[in-house]
Amino acid sequence: MYYKLITFGCQMNISDSERIASVLKKMKYQPTLDESKADLILINSCSVRQKAIDRIFGQEKKWQKLKKEKPSLIIALTGCITEKDKKKLKDKADLIFNIKELSELPKKIVNMQQYVETQQCLVSTDYFHIKPQYSNKTIAYVPIMTGCDNFCSYCVVPYTRGREIYRPIEKIICEIKNLVKRGYKEIILLGQNVNSYQLTINNQQSTIISFPQLLKMIAEIPGKFQITFLTSHPKDMSDELIDTMAKCEKIKKELHLPVQSGDDEILKKMNRNYIVDHYLKLVQKVREKIGKIFLSTDIIVGFPGETKKQFENTVKLCKKIKFNKAFISQYSPRPGTVSAKLKDNISKEEKKRRWEILNDLINS
Ligand code: SF4
Repeated sequence: MYYKLITFGCQMNISDSERIASVLKKMKYQPTLDESKADLILINSCSVRQKAIDRIFGQEKKWQKLKKEKPSLIIALTGCITEKDKKKLKDKADLIFNIKELSELPKKIVNMQQYVETQQCLVSTDYFHIKPQYSNKTIAYVPIMTGCDNFCSYCVVPYTRGREIYRPIEKIICEIKNLVKRGYKEIILLGQNVNSYQLTINNQQSTIISFPQLLKMIAEIPGKFQITFLTSHPKDMSDELIDTMAKCEKIKKELHLPVQSGDDEILKKMNRNYIVDHYLKLVQKVREKIGKIFLSTDIIVGFPGETKKQFENTVKLCKKIKFNKAFISQYSPRPGTVSAKLKDNISKEEKKRRWEILNDLINS
């Protein structure tokens, strides 16, 4: 049996797809790039951006045609999908499942096809225990948490992935030790908000392990490898984390720190919980303590009500900071979020114009 796995989204989706591939391998499915050969087409998507959902709708007709030719074909959908999008996609897929229920995927497929090989079912709600099929031979994504508590007004993650859940330290260390033994040279720690990682160890005093402490524990693993992490929230970027980055040789001098806007009023509307001045001071501290660092960011242009002056504030911030890289997106409302209730009053053309200005600036 063959499967085609299609991933739309961020590194977390890529990492989840590695686990999906592993589950499917256990079910004796083999990967194929040829959709006409597939018995299962699984789309792991993200509805954080409207584009990903549009891409599913764009390909859906082709998949339905394939299904007519091969009625046993299963079309499955998972990822960060909002309830509203799930409803819209309900008729387009045979199976829609929450990524946290990945362990139960075999059972769901078995139920659907009434297959006999039920012994291959895995039962657990902790999908992180599934060993991924790493898609790269030297760089590996290792999730340390899932979900988000921040509720930025434009974002669906807290609704689709739920609240923050931290992966146990011993599981993270064990996975990385094995990767290092296998010769992996770069470990990318993943999570929607890695720097809020916090786990209480119930020893005699109930010790709290923070993200910088976790980083130090990982860095102590013997072997030649480097550590990076994605994504950090500016409000949770502690001095301890900056010091750890500065002192620890194994931590790559790279930081992805989404700013989203250079205007305080827009940041407030986005519910980001910091002001521009905080971000500027943070970057200054990072550069003073760490020295040369590759700094990247995320920016949204055309947020509801963003005036030309407010956009200019973002331009000014970018000129001041001189990011090495920026992922700029044109705002699109995501159903179910707080900002979706605001009037999306910036025209497509104006959003594109603002995107081009920033893009040219960052590239230059
Ligand atoms: S920090 Fe904000 S943008 Fe990032 S995942 Fe959480 S809610 Fe979404």
